[in-house]
Amino acid sequence: MGHTGLVVRILLVEDDDSLASVVARGLREDGYAVDVCGTVLDATHQMDVEDHDLVILDVGLPDGDGLNLCRSIRDDGSLVPVLLLTARDGLSDKVAGLDSGADDYLTKPFDYPELTARIRALLRRPTATRRPDLRVDDVRLDPASRTVWRGAITVPLTAREFALLQMLMSYPGDVVTREFLLDHVWDSNYDGMSNVVDVHVANLRRKLHIDGEPELIETVRGVGYRMGSAVS
Ligand code: CA
Repeated sequence: MGHTGLVVRILLVEDDDSLASVVARGLREDGYAVDVCGTVLDATHQMDVEDHDLVILDVGLPDGDGLNLCRSIRDDGSLVPVLLLTARDGLSDKVAGLDSGADDYLTKPFDYPELTARIRALLRRPTATRRPDLRVDDVRLDPASRTVWRGAITVPLTAREFALLQMLMSYPGDVVTREFLLDHVWDSNYDGMSNVVDVHVANLRRKLHIDGEPELIETVRGVGYRMGSAVS
């Protein structure tokens, strides 16, 4: 099943394997979908087969220069936000980075919170693919600020619960299967507990529950879950 464009998808181009795996793990824990590659060639291929919401691009790659790759992304007409990672700190490199069409840069070594702050800032920009709020019944979800409200009440969710709710709200009135949720909210190679979707739905229901108000997530026995009226 292909990418639905509903979860924020990041392409990480970094040939330092240990750095790439630390960053990718952090981003996945924060609820992003992440594709990782270590060469210009792989990055070009990844961008052909997937739509990314943001690219994190190391400048020094084994088969080429991240700056040139960034230029070719822009030459292709893509406005995807690009965050450069550079080991260098010279002013000329920064200027060259921004001249290449990159939106921002970060000098190594960097702290992970600094990286995620930059990512959030880039995704908030109007040039980024801004997704509208989702609404089902009295629940509202803002993908940009990653905030959920039921009525006027803000509902604090974990990154995974947020991604799960976002997926259910993206198909109002439709049954969303457990397999689809596993593929899109967890990694497709997820091999943890088999009832992970049900456990997270239960937590989501508990957090969205308001005494006296109707339950919003319906169980469709043996299949999956549904939000919103079946007849719209
Ligand atoms: Ca490198």
